[in-house]
Amino acid sequence: MKKVSIKSEEYEKYYKQLILKKIGLNGQKKIFKSKVLVIGAGGLGCPLILYLAYSGVGNLGIADHDKIELSNLSRQILYTKNDVGKNKVTVSRKIVKNINKRINIKIYKERIDSKNITRIARDYEIICDGTDNFKSRFVINDYCLKNKKVLISSAINKFDGQLFTFDFRKKTPCFRCFMPNSPNDETNCETDGIITTLAGIAGSLQANEVIKSILDFKNGKKENIIVFNALDSNFRKIKLLKDPKCKNRYLHG
Ligand SMILES: [Zn+2]
Repeated sequence: MKKVSIKSEEYEKYYKQLILKKIGLNGQKKIFKSKVLVIGAGGLGCPLILYLAYSGVGNLGIADHDKIELSNLSRQILYTKNDVGKNKVTVSRKIVKNINKRINIKIYKERIDSKNITRIARDYEIICDGTDNFKSRFVINDYCLKNKKVLISSAINKFDGQLFTFDFRKKTPCFRCFMPNSPNDETNCETDGIITTLAGIAGSLQANEVIKSILDFKNGKKENIIVFNALDSNFRKIKLLKDPKCKNRYLHG
């Protein structure tokens, strides 16, 4: 068996996780070595970043161009009133460093677009989409598909949430198979409202999928979408099929 070494403080910190037979020291080392990019440090990104940092993810990128506003504070749990007006990525980095100073963290104070995504996402294996608009979702989806990244994406509105997991290292459908184009009447939590706890549920689910992907835990039935509703606590798993008319069909394999 391959010898693994881990500092005693680290051992104690992650003890409860690494005594799990399915994880162990080798699993924890995989988490330490993982490279994860979070795009969007908002309602989804905040719980996601926290759980990735607390899980021991060793290399973390955070991209967001926004500044913190008072109306963010009910969901964006990394920030407090003292942070209003500051850049989300700067405050996020400070908090992550306090959680775990071993984390190699990089921040990108930019709005993701088709021009900058290659430079920003290149070094990461897993890309998490927590943005709030379809334009960014399509840019991120197309980039991840083309470059064979793992994309873990979440969307929330009012009481409803969706979680998408696409491992583009394998033959798999993409987000455009689910939604080919932006809807004409794009809505988001800015216009529609959202229940505070939904962001926490969705961001935590997203973090859980990231850790499962790092550890290469197999999802037996290969469902790639989880649809859930906060009011009736109903979770449904759906297997998305490739759309033969998808704009990206030649890349699906
Ligand atoms: Zn597709």
